[in-house]
Amino acid sequence: LIQLYMPLNFLGTLYREMKQGIVDIEIMFDLLDEEPEIEDRPGARPLEVRDGTIRFESVAFRYDADRPILKCVSFEVPAGRTVAIVGPSGAGKSTVSRILFRFYDVAGGRVTIDGQDIRDVTQASLRHAIGMVPQDTVLFNDTIAYNIGYGRVSASREEIVEAARLAQIDGFIANLPLGYDTEVGERGLKLSGGEKQRVAIARTILKSPPILVLDEATSALDTHTEKEIQAALGVVSRGRTTLVIAHRLSTIIDADEIIVLEKGEIVEKGTHHVLLASNGVYAGMWNRQREAAEAAERLKETVESD
Ligand code: ATP
Repeated sequence: LIQLYMPLNFLGTLYREMKQGIVDIEIMFDLLDEEPEIEDRPGARPLEVRDGTIRFESVAFRYDADRPILKCVSFEVPAGRTVAIVGPSGAGKSTVSRILFRFYDVAGGRVTIDGQDIRDVTQASLRHAIGMVPQDTVLFNDTIAYNIGYGRVSASREEIVEAARLAQIDGFIANLPLGYDTEVGERGLKLSGGEKQRVAIARTILKSPPILVLDEATSALDTHTEKEIQAALGVVSRGRTTLVIAHRLSTIIDADEIIVLEKGEIVEKGTHHVLLASNGVYAGMWNRQREAAEAAERLKETVESD
Protein backbone atom coordinates (compact mmCIF):
# COMPACT_ATOMS: atom_id res chain seq x y z
CA LEU A 1 0.00 0.00 0.00
CA ILE A 2 2.82 2.39 0.84
CA GLN A 3 4.10 1.93 -2.74
CA LEU A 4 0.80 3.15 -4.04
CA TYR A 5 0.46 5.85 -1.46
CA MET A 6 3.84 7.49 -2.05
CA PRO A 7 3.31 8.44 -5.72
CA LEU A 8 -0.22 9.59 -4.98
CA ASN A 9 1.04 11.60 -2.11
CA PHE A 10 3.73 13.08 -4.34
CA LEU A 11 1.15 14.07 -6.95
CA GLY A 12 -0.97 15.67 -4.27
CA THR A 13 1.99 17.66 -3.00
CA LEU A 14 2.96 18.67 -6.51
CA TYR A 15 -0.56 19.84 -7.24
CA ARG A 16 -0.72 21.79 -3.99
CA GLU A 17 2.64 23.38 -4.58
CA MET A 18 1.70 24.37 -8.11
CA LYS A 19 -1.54 25.76 -6.88
CA GLN A 20 0.12 27.67 -4.12
CA GLY A 21 2.87 29.00 -6.36
CA ILE A 22 0.39 31.46 -7.89
CA VAL A 23 2.84 31.85 -10.71
CA ASP A 24 0.27 32.53 -13.28
CA ILE A 25 -3.10 31.40 -12.34
CA GLU A 26 -4.67 31.64 -15.79
CA ILE A 27 -1.96 29.53 -17.41
CA MET A 28 -2.09 27.05 -14.60
CA PHE A 29 -5.81 26.54 -14.91
CA ASP A 30 -5.35 26.10 -18.64
CA LEU A 31 -2.80 23.41 -17.93
CA LEU A 32 -4.95 21.64 -15.42
CA ASP A 33 -8.09 22.30 -17.41
CA GLU A 34 -9.86 23.35 -14.27
CA GLU A 35 -12.13 26.26 -13.52
CA PRO A 36 -11.03 28.73 -10.87
CA GLU A 37 -13.07 28.32 -7.69
CA ILE A 38 -13.63 32.05 -7.33
CA GLU A 39 -15.79 33.90 -9.78
CA ASP A 40 -16.19 37.60 -10.48
CA ARG A 41 -19.24 39.19 -9.01
CA PRO A 42 -21.87 40.13 -11.60
CA GLY A 43 -21.05 43.71 -12.64
CA ALA A 44 -17.58 43.59 -11.07
CA ARG A 45 -15.52 46.58 -12.12
CA PRO A 46 -11.82 46.78 -12.80
CA LEU A 47 -9.69 47.68 -9.80
CA GLU A 48 -8.64 51.32 -9.89
CA VAL A 49 -5.20 51.60 -8.42
CA ARG A 50 -4.47 55.09 -7.19
CA ASP A 51 -1.50 54.74 -4.86
CA GLY A 52 -1.73 51.02 -4.05
CA THR A 53 -2.53 50.93 -0.33
CA ILE A 54 -3.38 47.41 0.88
CA ARG A 55 -5.53 46.87 3.96
CA PHE A 56 -6.44 43.64 5.73
CA GLU A 57 -9.35 44.42 8.05
CA SER A 58 -10.16 41.78 10.70
CA VAL A 59 -9.57 39.00 8.18
CA ALA A 60 -10.61 35.50 9.18
CA PHE A 61 -9.91 32.53 6.96
CA ARG A 62 -10.01 28.74 6.96
CA TYR A 63 -9.31 26.16 4.25
CA ASP A 64 -11.33 23.54 6.10
CA ALA A 65 -14.41 24.34 8.14
CA ASP A 66 -13.01 23.04 11.40
CA ARG A 67 -9.55 24.63 11.32
CA PRO A 68 -9.19 28.42 11.45
CA ILE A 69 -5.98 29.57 9.75
CA LEU A 70 -6.21 33.37 10.08
CA LYS A 71 -8.02 34.92 13.03
CA CYS A 72 -8.89 38.62 12.92
CA VAL A 73 -5.76 39.71 11.06
CA SER A 74 -5.53 43.49 10.50
CA PHE A 75 -2.67 45.41 8.97
CA GLU A 76 -1.93 47.99 6.33
CA VAL A 77 0.76 48.22 3.69
CA PRO A 78 0.86 51.96 2.96
CA ALA A 79 1.45 53.03 -0.63
CA GLY A 80 5.04 52.52 -1.73
CA ARG A 81 6.09 50.94 1.57
CA THR A 82 7.43 47.49 2.38
CA VAL A 83 5.81 45.29 5.02
CA ALA A 84 7.24 41.88 5.86
CA ILE A 85 5.39 38.96 7.40
CA VAL A 86 7.41 36.52 9.47
CA GLY A 87 6.50 33.67 11.75
CA PRO A 88 6.94 29.96 12.26
CA SER A 89 6.18 27.45 9.53
CA GLY A 90 2.44 27.01 9.18
CA ALA A 91 1.62 30.35 10.82
CA GLY A 92 -0.38 31.43 7.75
CA LYS A 93 2.12 33.73 6.00
CA SER A 94 1.65 32.40 2.47
CA THR A 95 -2.08 32.22 3.06
CA VAL A 96 -2.06 36.02 3.41
CA SER A 97 -0.57 36.34 -0.10
CA ARG A 98 -3.06 33.83 -1.54
CA ILE A 99 -5.91 35.85 -0.07
CA LEU A 100 -4.53 39.10 -1.48
CA PHE A 101 -4.55 37.44 -4.91
CA ARG A 102 -8.09 36.33 -4.18
CA PHE A 103 -7.16 32.75 -4.67
CA TYR A 104 -9.59 32.21 -1.81
CA ASP A 105 -12.26 34.42 -0.28
CA VAL A 106 -12.10 35.49 3.34
CA ALA A 107 -14.51 34.00 5.88
CA GLY A 108 -14.71 37.26 7.82
CA GLY A 109 -13.51 40.85 7.50
CA ARG A 110 -12.28 42.24 4.20
CA VAL A 111 -9.24 43.04 2.10
CA THR A 112 -9.09 46.33 0.24
CA ILE A 113 -6.76 47.97 -2.25
CA ASP A 114 -7.15 51.74 -2.32
CA GLY A 115 -10.45 51.32 -0.49
CA GLN A 116 -11.96 48.81 -2.94
CA ASP A 117 -12.96 45.43 -1.55
CA ILE A 118 -11.10 42.90 -3.70
CA ARG A 119 -14.29 40.82 -3.96
CA ASP A 120 -15.93 43.70 -5.85
CA VAL A 121 -13.35 44.01 -8.62
CA THR A 122 -12.53 41.74 -11.55
CA GLN A 123 -9.91 39.13 -10.83
CA ALA A 124 -8.11 39.95 -14.08
CA SER A 125 -7.60 43.57 -12.99
CA LEU A 126 -6.58 42.51 -9.47
CA ARG A 127 -3.93 40.11 -10.77
CA HIS A 128 -2.78 42.64 -13.31
CA ALA A 129 -2.05 45.08 -10.48
CA ILE A 130 -0.03 42.61 -8.42
CA GLY A 131 3.36 41.26 -9.36
CA MET A 132 4.37 38.06 -7.69
CA VAL A 133 7.88 36.77 -7.20
CA PRO A 134 7.04 33.27 -6.01
CA GLN A 135 9.17 30.85 -4.01
CA ASP A 136 9.64 28.65 -6.99
CA THR A 137 9.11 29.99 -10.48
CA VAL A 138 7.73 27.73 -13.15
CA LEU A 139 9.67 28.12 -16.39
CA PHE A 140 8.19 27.49 -19.80
CA ASN A 141 9.98 25.13 -22.18
CA ASP A 142 11.13 28.02 -24.33
CA THR A 143 14.01 30.47 -24.59
CA ILE A 144 15.17 32.48 -21.62
CA ALA A 145 14.16 35.64 -23.53
CA TYR A 146 10.61 34.28 -23.81
CA ASN A 147 10.57 33.40 -20.13
CA ILE A 148 11.52 36.94 -19.13
CA GLY A 149 9.41 38.66 -21.80
CA TYR A 150 6.39 36.79 -20.54
CA GLY A 151 6.12 39.55 -17.91
CA ARG A 152 4.94 41.83 -20.73
CA VAL A 153 4.36 40.16 -24.07
CA SER A 154 4.84 43.41 -25.97
CA ALA A 155 8.35 43.89 -24.56
CA SER A 156 11.14 44.40 -27.08
CA ARG A 157 14.44 42.51 -26.92
CA GLU A 158 16.12 45.67 -25.57
CA GLU A 159 13.58 45.89 -22.74
CA ILE A 160 14.08 42.21 -21.92
CA VAL A 161 17.84 42.69 -21.75
CA GLU A 162 17.43 45.78 -19.55
CA ALA A 163 15.09 43.87 -17.18
CA ALA A 164 17.64 41.02 -17.01
CA ARG A 165 20.35 43.54 -16.18
CA LEU A 166 18.30 45.07 -13.36
CA ALA A 167 17.51 41.59 -12.04
CA GLN A 168 21.22 40.77 -12.12
CA ILE A 169 20.85 37.76 -14.39
CA ASP A 170 22.38 39.30 -17.54
CA GLY A 171 25.89 38.04 -16.71
CA PHE A 172 24.62 34.49 -16.35
CA ILE A 173 22.69 34.73 -19.65
CA ALA A 174 25.70 36.16 -21.50
CA ASN A 175 27.61 32.98 -20.70
CA LEU A 176 24.92 30.61 -22.04
CA PRO A 177 25.67 28.90 -25.36
CA LEU A 178 22.94 30.77 -27.26
CA GLY A 179 22.61 33.72 -24.87
CA TYR A 180 19.01 34.93 -24.70
CA ASP A 181 17.96 32.27 -27.23
CA THR A 182 19.02 29.39 -25.00
CA GLU A 183 16.18 26.98 -24.30
CA VAL A 184 15.40 26.56 -20.61
CA GLY A 185 12.82 24.66 -18.60
CA GLU A 186 12.29 20.97 -18.10
CA ARG A 187 13.40 20.07 -21.62
CA GLY A 188 16.18 22.64 -21.84
CA LEU A 189 18.78 24.03 -19.52
CA LYS A 190 17.74 23.62 -15.90
CA LEU A 191 18.19 26.72 -13.79
CA SER A 192 19.02 26.79 -10.10
CA GLY A 193 16.55 28.18 -7.56
CA GLY A 194 18.42 31.49 -7.38
CA GLU A 195 18.53 31.83 -11.18
CA LYS A 196 14.85 31.04 -11.50
CA GLN A 197 14.04 33.61 -8.87
CA ARG A 198 15.98 36.24 -10.81
CA VAL A 199 14.04 35.31 -13.97
CA ALA A 200 10.88 35.93 -11.94
CA ILE A 201 12.25 39.28 -10.81
CA ALA A 202 13.09 40.27 -14.40
CA ARG A 203 9.56 39.27 -15.46
CA THR A 204 8.13 41.42 -12.70
CA ILE A 205 10.32 44.38 -13.66
CA LEU A 206 8.81 44.17 -17.15
CA LYS A 207 5.29 43.81 -15.80
CA SER A 208 5.91 46.86 -13.62
CA PRO A 209 2.96 46.34 -11.26
CA PRO A 210 2.05 48.93 -8.60
CA ILE A 211 1.88 46.17 -5.96
CA LEU A 212 4.43 43.49 -5.35
CA VAL A 213 4.35 40.25 -3.37
CA LEU A 214 7.65 38.54 -2.69
CA ASP A 215 7.41 35.01 -1.39
CA GLU A 216 10.91 34.28 -0.25
CA ALA A 217 12.31 30.83 -0.93
CA THR A 218 12.57 28.68 2.19
CA SER A 219 15.70 26.99 0.94
CA ALA A 220 18.91 28.67 2.00
CA LEU A 221 20.86 30.34 -0.78
CA ASP A 222 24.59 30.88 -0.64
CA THR A 223 25.59 34.31 0.62
CA HIS A 224 26.66 35.57 -2.82
CA THR A 225 23.40 34.52 -4.53
CA GLU A 226 21.41 35.88 -1.63
CA LYS A 227 23.11 39.29 -1.99
CA GLU A 228 22.45 39.36 -5.74
CA ILE A 229 18.81 38.50 -5.21
CA GLN A 230 18.46 41.08 -2.46
CA ALA A 231 19.90 43.74 -4.75
CA ALA A 232 17.55 42.71 -7.55
CA LEU A 233 14.56 42.75 -5.19
CA GLY A 234 15.60 46.20 -3.99
CA VAL A 235 15.38 47.44 -7.58
CA VAL A 236 11.99 45.91 -8.26
CA SER A 237 10.36 46.96 -4.96
CA ARG A 238 11.48 50.59 -5.06
CA GLY A 239 8.44 52.86 -4.96
CA ARG A 240 5.98 49.94 -5.05
CA THR A 241 3.71 48.74 -2.30
CA THR A 242 5.48 45.56 -1.29
CA LEU A 243 4.47 42.62 0.88
CA VAL A 244 7.29 40.23 1.69
CA ILE A 245 6.65 36.73 2.99
CA ALA A 246 9.99 36.25 4.69
CA HIS A 247 11.81 33.18 5.92
CA ARG A 248 15.22 34.66 6.51
CA LEU A 249 15.04 37.61 8.87
CA SER A 250 18.34 38.97 7.51
CA THR A 251 16.51 39.96 4.31
CA ILE A 252 13.90 42.20 5.92
CA ILE A 253 15.88 44.33 8.37
CA ASP A 254 15.03 47.44 6.34
CA ALA A 255 11.29 46.77 5.98
CA ASP A 256 9.10 49.69 7.05
CA GLU A 257 7.16 47.32 9.25
CA ILE A 258 7.50 43.68 10.28
CA ILE A 259 4.45 41.67 11.26
CA VAL A 260 4.95 38.58 13.36
CA LEU A 261 2.27 35.99 12.71
CA GLU A 262 1.81 33.03 15.01
CA LYS A 263 -0.97 30.46 14.66
CA GLY A 264 -2.91 32.83 12.42
CA GLU A 265 -2.72 35.84 14.73
CA ILE A 266 -0.53 38.93 14.72
CA VAL A 267 1.48 38.78 17.92
CA GLU A 268 3.94 41.64 17.27
CA LYS A 269 4.37 44.54 14.88
CA GLY A 270 7.17 47.06 14.43
CA THR A 271 10.49 47.80 12.80
CA HIS A 272 13.43 45.43 13.18
CA HIS A 273 15.07 47.59 15.87
CA VAL A 274 11.89 48.14 17.85
CA LEU A 275 11.08 44.42 17.80
CA LEU A 276 14.59 43.45 18.83
CA ALA A 277 14.49 45.90 21.72
CA SER A 278 11.14 44.57 22.93
CA ASN A 279 12.76 41.15 23.33
CA GLY A 280 9.69 39.14 22.34
CA VAL A 281 8.90 36.52 19.71
CA TYR A 282 10.77 38.31 16.91
CA ALA A 283 13.90 38.79 19.03
CA GLY A 284 13.81 35.07 19.85
CA MET A 285 13.53 34.15 16.16
CA TRP A 286 16.35 36.56 15.31
CA ASN A 287 18.68 35.08 17.93
CA ARG A 288 17.93 31.52 16.83
CA GLN A 289 18.58 32.33 13.16
CA ARG A 290 21.81 34.13 14.05
CA GLU A 291 23.03 31.20 16.12
CA ALA A 292 22.17 28.77 13.31
CA ALA A 293 24.01 30.97 10.76
CA GLU A 294 27.06 31.15 13.01
CA ALA A 295 27.06 27.38 13.54
CA ALA A 296 26.81 26.84 9.76
CA GLU A 297 29.71 29.25 9.23
CA ARG A 298 31.85 27.39 11.80
CA LEU A 299 31.03 24.06 10.17
CA LYS A 300 32.03 25.46 6.77
CA GLU A 301 35.35 26.70 8.16
CA THR A 302 36.05 23.30 9.73
CA VAL A 303 35.27 21.47 6.48
CA GLU A 304 37.39 23.90 4.46
CA SER A 305 40.38 23.64 6.81
CA ASP A 306 40.31 19.79 6.68
P1 ATP B 1 5.74 28.16 5.71
O1 ATP B 1 6.63 29.12 6.41
O2 ATP B 1 6.05 26.74 6.07
O3 ATP B 1 5.66 28.38 4.22
P2 ATP B 1 3.22 29.55 6.22
O4 ATP B 1 3.27 30.39 7.42
O5 ATP B 1 3.37 30.25 4.89
O6 ATP B 1 4.27 28.35 6.32
P3 ATP B 1 0.71 28.66 5.16
O7 ATP B 1 1.25 28.04 3.89
O8 ATP B 1 0.00 29.94 5.04
O9 ATP B 1 1.85 28.76 6.25
O10 ATP B 1 -0.24 27.57 5.83
C1 ATP B 1 -0.94 27.83 7.03
C2 ATP B 1 -1.69 26.57 7.45
O11 ATP B 1 -2.68 26.27 6.48
C3 ATP B 1 -0.82 25.34 7.56
O12 ATP B 1 -1.19 24.65 8.71
C4 ATP B 1 -1.14 24.54 6.33
O13 ATP B 1 -1.04 23.17 6.58
C5 ATP B 1 -2.56 24.93 6.04
N1 ATP B 1 -2.84 24.89 4.59
C6 ATP B 1 -2.13 25.50 3.64
N2 ATP B 1 -2.67 25.28 2.41
C7 ATP B 1 -3.75 24.51 2.62
C8 ATP B 1 -4.74 23.94 1.76
N3 ATP B 1 -4.72 24.15 0.44
N4 ATP B 1 -5.70 23.18 2.33
C9 ATP B 1 -5.73 22.97 3.66
N5 ATP B 1 -4.83 23.49 4.53
C10 ATP B 1 -3.86 24.24 4.02
